[in-house]
Amino acid sequence: MYSEQTKTTKSIRSSIIKKITALAFDTGLIRGGRQLWSKSLTVLNYHRIDDPHREGFASFLPTVSAHPDEFNHQMEYLDRWFNVISLRDVINWLAGRHSLPPYAALITFDDGYLDNYTTAYPILKRHEFPAVIYLTSGHIDTDVPFYWDLAAYCFFHTRVDHVLFPDHTEHFWRNPIDRAKVSNSWIESMKALPETQKQEWVSRLPEKLAVSIPHNYFRKLMMNWDQVREMSSNGMEFGGHTINHPILSRIPLDQARVEIEGSKANIENEIGKQIFSFAYPNGKRADLDPFIENLVKDAGFRAAFTLLNGPTSQLEARQNPYAIRRIFIGNHHSLPQFATLLNPLNRYRS
Ligand SMILES: [Zn+2]
Repeated sequence: MYSEQTKTTKSIRSSIIKKITALAFDTGLIRGGRQLWSKSLTVLNYHRIDDPHREGFASFLPTVSAHPDEFNHQMEYLDRWFNVISLRDVINWLAGRHSLPPYAALITFDDGYLDNYTTAYPILKRHEFPAVIYLTSGHIDTDVPFYWDLAAYCFFHTRVDHVLFPDHTEHFWRNPIDRAKVSNSWIESMKALPETQKQEWVSRLPEKLAVSIPHNYFRKLMMNWDQVREMSSNGMEFGGHTINHPILSRIPLDQARVEIEGSKANIENEIGKQIFSFAYPNGKRADLDPFIENLVKDAGFRAAFTLLNGPTSQLEARQNPYAIRRIFIGNHHSLPQFATLLNPLNRYRS
């Protein structure tokens, strides 16, 4: 009863916030005091651009950043209110070679999903926007899934009705909605484990949920190197995101060095160009530290991006170019909410 009431209160609150946000968007209030933040650097972070309600979608929902139509609307919004810049512009600015335009915005994608090529790239081209894609190099052009996509596939296809969590609690579901919630919590619970334990739990999951995964199933989830090269020669930029996507603060520093340097060498070798920037896997405060930032610097990267919330001031980015904030875009964000996220006050939310 208590939890039902809490749920109702929460949903009323969220619908009121949505209405206020929509009103602020319509009246322009959302951009109030805009001239005060003309010298901010707004870096957007996307993962996948896809329709999660299409038939056959059996991947991890939180990695979908926007439906293609929504993504297009977001790009139209950027076109109207921001100056979209390239990573090269950021690097040249950091080196003191030129200044950034007012309301500078950089578009980034993490991981290297195929829909970045098939869906996001044509929309970006239409708007003549550059973007940077951070590649997990060991997954590009392979059948190797990210653990969250492998787990999501297993939960989506299982006939079993329960699963064991790392804290040894058993979680049950009665319908697909409950199952999706358990699936998301199970995947989230993996992030707290040391890397080796996480791999053990994930590798046992298909058997525990009695699911067999078709051969080469995950090959169609990620880009291949030819697609990367094509985009690279047409103005899209690439950066490092490790080889295997470990959370760098949860592995020994020597191993972190291999992940950081290895992804750089691998990508540069494939595209035949130097890369200048890096994005930390997961990217929250607990996922990086000054030792890891130094490894990134020593590897020859000139800038690195976190997932700490919100736009950053140009001054702050210049002071530490190895921890530049980004705004995480999620598929539940309406256009007014998207506009709210781009307001610098947003960074104080977390
Ligand atoms: Zn990632």
